[in-house]
Amino acid sequence: MMDFYQGQEALLQQASRIVDTETVPLNQAAGRILAQSIIATTDSPAFDNSAMDGYAICGLDCSEWQLTDTAAAGDTRQLTLQHGQAMRIYTGAGIPVNTDAVIMQENTCVEGLTLSCTSTPVANENIRRQGEELKQGATLLEKGALLNAQAIGLAASQGFSELQVYQKLRVSVFTTGDELVSGNSQLQQHQIYDSNRPMLLACLQTYTFIEIIDGGILPDNLDIITETLSKAATSSHSIIISGGASVGDRDLVKPALQQLGSIEHWKLAIKPGKPFGWGCIGECRVMLLPGNPVASFVTFKLLGLPALQTAAGRHILQALPECYQAKAAFSIIPNRQKRREFLRGSLRYTNNGPEVIPLNKQGSHMLSGCVNAQVLIDIPAQTDIQQGQWLIVYPI
Ligand code: AMP
Ligand code: MG
Repeated sequence: MMDFYQGQEALLQQASRIVDTETVPLNQAAGRILAQSIIATTDSPAFDNSAMDGYAICGLDCSEWQLTDTAAAGDTRQLTLQHGQAMRIYTGAGIPVNTDAVIMQENTCVEGLTLSCTSTPVANENIRRQGEELKQGATLLEKGALLNAQAIGLAASQGFSELQVYQKLRVSVFTTGDELVSGNSQLQQHQIYDSNRPMLLACLQTYTFIEIIDGGILPDNLDIITETLSKAATSSHSIIISGGASVGDRDLVKPALQQLGSIEHWKLAIKPGKPFGWGCIGECRVMLLPGNPVASFVTFKLLGLPALQTAAGRHILQALPECYQAKAAFSIIPNRQKRREFLRGSLRYTNNGPEVIPLNKQGSHMLSGCVNAQVLIDIPAQTDIQQGQWLIVYPI
């Protein structure tokens, strides 16, 4: 069985971009993935301007200045000061020629047309210089970046009104199992409601760059699974299918995929989630998820979603799940677990720093134990965990 991190890397390498590009108006680009690096068209700031409401002065050695004019934001005139002169100026206004400093309003005193200062003026204070943030030609946003609100603002600040983005990744989601019933139907004995499909669809709804296709529940029938996946592969970039990925006679997704395309990898040394695999049907990438709901969730969060994001064009480093460190508020000695475990944990902030502790109900069929968890705690295989030791945690 392959180690989790090795598996994640292999999967993400396989999944790199499979969609074409399109141009969209800036106001429809939020949440999409940039298909082309964009370059600053001008310096930023584009001109020297005032960082404060106050007075632009010429002559740092003067004790008084004569007021001549007012420079407001948006004033298009080119104003000039001579030695001993000052001008009222507002935040964002262009700096008059010969300005030595802008004195903030709070540190000034005006009588008639004479300005004096209650503090000693410092050369260049309160002036934002042209190009101090970015020079024309600098990279504003990198290809593969997710266009969040800040990125949209930055592109707008440079006059971009449309952006080249990757087309939406079409993802079909299926669950399998003769025992599964949709929420609107009556349960018969030994049937259960399908929790994975609504959960996986909910995970995908966060991503504007994904077009979700709800494929429904498939029975444990090889012909039906094969026919359905074959059809879905022609209309989707990627297929996610949960259940039937293990080794039982009723686990038919693996044989179906082998028949239609190929399995590139199957089984990872993780708990929960061992029967996770991936492959392809023609151009369509397929991921097999475990049926147990927590295993399905954990593998989708840590492996499935990152893979879909890179397939959708996102930069691989941005697509990896966010993680940070927290101290173990527990110990596992000896840890005989042969697979890397991702325990559902609670995170709390103490004077000692962030601390994690596993919650109750760690069974891979127990979604209720997952609901109140803030993080997945990464417990390396066969490695004792000492209280106070730093561990990697993945926020969920
Ligand atoms: P499987 O991977 O198909 O062998 O399923 C493993 C376990 O997960 C079984 O107990 C299934 O009943 C359960 N299971 C599979 N799919 C789902 C689902 N979509 N929702 C809830 N439980 C499921
Ligand atoms: Mg099954």
